[in-house]
Amino acid sequence: MKEEDVKDVEVNNHKTNEDDVFYDESDGLISASRLLSLLGSKDRDSLLSPTGTQKVEGSKEAQDFHIGCSANVVKQVKISDLEGKVIGILFSANWYPPCQEFTRVLANSYEQLKHSDPGFEIVFVSSDEDQDAFNNYHACMPWLAVPFSDLETKRSLNRRFDIEGIPSLIVLQPNIKEGTAIRDGVDLIYRYGIQAYPFTEERLQELLEKERDKHKNQTLKDLLANRERDFLLGHSTLKVPVSSLTGKTVGLFFSAQWCLPGVKFTPKLVSIYGKIKQELAVKGDEHFEIVFVSSDCDQTTFDSYFQTMPWLALPLGDLAIKDLAKYFDIRGIPSLVILGPDGKTVTKQGRNLVNLYQENAYPFTEARIGLLERLVDEEAQNLPKSVNHTGHRHELVLVSEGNGGGPFICCDCDEQGSGWAYQCIECGYEVHTKCV
Ligand SMILES: [Zn+2]
Ligand SMILES: [Zn+2]
Repeated sequence: MKEEDVKDVEVNNHKTNEDDVFYDESDGLISASRLLSLLGSKDRDSLLSPTGTQKVEGSKEAQDFHIGCSANVVKQVKISDLEGKVIGILFSANWYPPCQEFTRVLANSYEQLKHSDPGFEIVFVSSDEDQDAFNNYHACMPWLAVPFSDLETKRSLNRRFDIEGIPSLIVLQPNIKEGTAIRDGVDLIYRYGIQAYPFTEERLQELLEKERDKHKNQTLKDLLANRERDFLLGHSTLKVPVSSLTGKTVGLFFSAQWCLPGVKFTPKLVSIYGKIKQELAVKGDEHFEIVFVSSDCDQTTFDSYFQTMPWLALPLGDLAIKDLAKYFDIRGIPSLVILGPDGKTVTKQGRNLVNLYQENAYPFTEARIGLLERLVDEEAQNLPKSVNHTGHRHELVLVSEGNGGGPFICCDCDEQGSGWAYQCIECGYEVHTKCV
């Protein structure tokens, strides 16, 4: 986010006492006049309606027309009309792809909600670069906006809600006391969609409990099969029954061929999968399998990518794929979720654990990882405190999680890491201890 949008502005700011103007001192509730002071300004008591800013076509005439006639074109909605509604304040900008992505998802939820409940409204607070960018972006949104030109209100909103990154969605309840604004609206929409509405504590508690129950009772069959399909795709055997995985440790591998880190990670996982299988085979044990959960766009790329994998797959486009991504809250690919022999989730950090411990990570349980961590800590005692690495011109220092380190992306192998690492604090250069 651009700094100027969140910077404190003390000069000429009529909203210096924001804590006082937002909530009534008497009862702490949000009233119409408080909304007005939050979303309006001394000369503006309305917001731009979704049809208020029309897409500006490239030509100079179109722009002149738009600006020249703005008084006629711009439709407005009185801020007082928002009283009694649940209000989402969306901080976003069109130059940032995660914002565009979230706007698409939110617009979808918003349209569904508007059908069933008119008591919800969203107000866009822009961090766009200029008026044209704002116009084009707001034209994709079915909700209201603070005018782009009202810098003061935008800044004061950013400051009031302590916005540190975009996209951000703050949800205000119509009759709830201060301190209860929902701050993680983006997360909630991605997780639950319109199920999150009306974003009250009770509703969110309900969803959390439902989710906990679901995870507690989760079975492999519920996750991987559905009414129409009780099999997975294999290579030599085309249809492998889901039931054949019962009692096994199963990795769900979320990836796609268009995802470069996914394509890079796949051969590593293939090799480690082979080693784990081999080690188990010696003991006559066949209790490990991986299932590819694909986000590929078409059958050809799916087929060619799946060809490189020795394990099973869900069919491309299967309903279970979206459900699984939502259920496990998959934020990015590649991701490796590990299910235990009882069908319950062991860890969602499979990718990281494979990177850290290779085949030794198996079976990925807490006990196993605890043991490996202790081993690594012991080994680290013998590592040099600093090294010179060919990839970097400064000396690198040994760090651990509690000692300057933390989750990182290795500058040598581009993979995730955590725990022990060699780091140049000055440059943010960090590599796995095994990568120096
Ligand atoms: Zn590395
Ligand atoms: Zn450096």
